[in-house]
Amino acid sequence: MMIVLMKPGASVAEIGAVLRCCRERGLKAVPSHGAGRTSVGVVSANRSTDLDDVADLPGVEQVSPVSAAFKLVGREFQPEPTVIPVGDALIGGDEFVVMAGPCAVESDEQINECAAAVAAAGGRILRGGAYKPRSSPYSFQGMGVPGLQILAEAGHSRGLPIVTEVMHPELVETVASYADILQIGARNVQNYALLEAVGRVRRPVLLKRGMMTTIEELLLAAEYILAGGNRQVMLCERGIRTFETATRNTLDIAAVPVIKSMSHLPVIIDPSHAAGYREFVPALAMAALAAGADGIVVEMHPVPEQAVSDGRQSLDFAQFNAMMDQLRPVAEVLGRPLAPTAPPKRATA
Ligand code: PEP
Ligand code: MN
Repeated sequence: MMIVLMKPGASVAEIGAVLRCCRERGLKAVPSHGAGRTSVGVVSANRSTDLDDVADLPGVEQVSPVSAAFKLVGREFQPEPTVIPVGDALIGGDEFVVMAGPCAVESDEQINECAAAVAAAGGRILRGGAYKPRSSPYSFQGMGVPGLQILAEAGHSRGLPIVTEVMHPELVETVASYADILQIGARNVQNYALLEAVGRVRRPVLLKRGMMTTIEELLLAAEYILAGGNRQVMLCERGIRTFETATRNTLDIAAVPVIKSMSHLPVIIDPSHAAGYREFVPALAMAALAAGADGIVVEMHPVPEQAVSDGRQSLDFAQFNAMMDQLRPVAEVLGRPLAPTAPPKRATA
């Protein structure tokens, strides 16, 4: 990839001429509008001679190759953080965004109780799986489309956008018609057909790191989505497999500053799948906040002991509220405030 760096104050017409010139040559050109100046990433160009004509256009300062393995996800292409608007939240902005809900959507009642608890405590986004990647083919596989419907209704009726997993390229359109954020699960982080499929839609993506994926591989997986045309990607660290057995996975907290040094994309921590046991989840959530993550995605359930999946790592509502109360003042001090809690509903009649 080559980067065409525009001069500070280059006009819209000059930037347009650069994009046109690249596209006329059959080269894919992606603009990035930074503070005070614009750069254009030319994805399929490898030598500066490919862009000799572009270098001579008005408003162009220089044309140079991107050396890093990561092109569109890298800081070299875009120094400023990516901020993704979802409902009232700006993911990657100042706010520490809390996404919460059950592992799986199980029933109308269950998901509505969760949605009410999330909204009341200052959570921003409702999570819940309608398609579940299970280790055993005999385990509950998720409710499918009816699950998507009740999840969307439970969230949207309370002003909560929803995040839910999509497992197959053929289901991307369907899931995207309900979901505000498409989740790619840990097991699918290198499913390139799926990455390409979510690259083609205009929906933010929560891309989870695999349990055996390096940070470089995660960034390259995200690169597929951005190269496909979808730049609204957030990266999720959810614990990796190590020799340690006391927790389900090992939270790689260093992934937060490391990814931030390499990429402009928001970073979300999933303390639930990292810990595997609910009593350890709040501490990992605090660590996420302290390390500079942009938010967390947490599992909770009205009766965790009865959850069809991941009950052991799911918080009950009292524990979820306690975690939010613990996070809130620290988030304030760090300049990463949580969303306000919803005013308590006044009883009518
Ligand atoms: C989930 O979010 O419930 C899930 C299956 O997560 P992961 O893909 O990280 O295992
Ligand atoms: Mn789960």
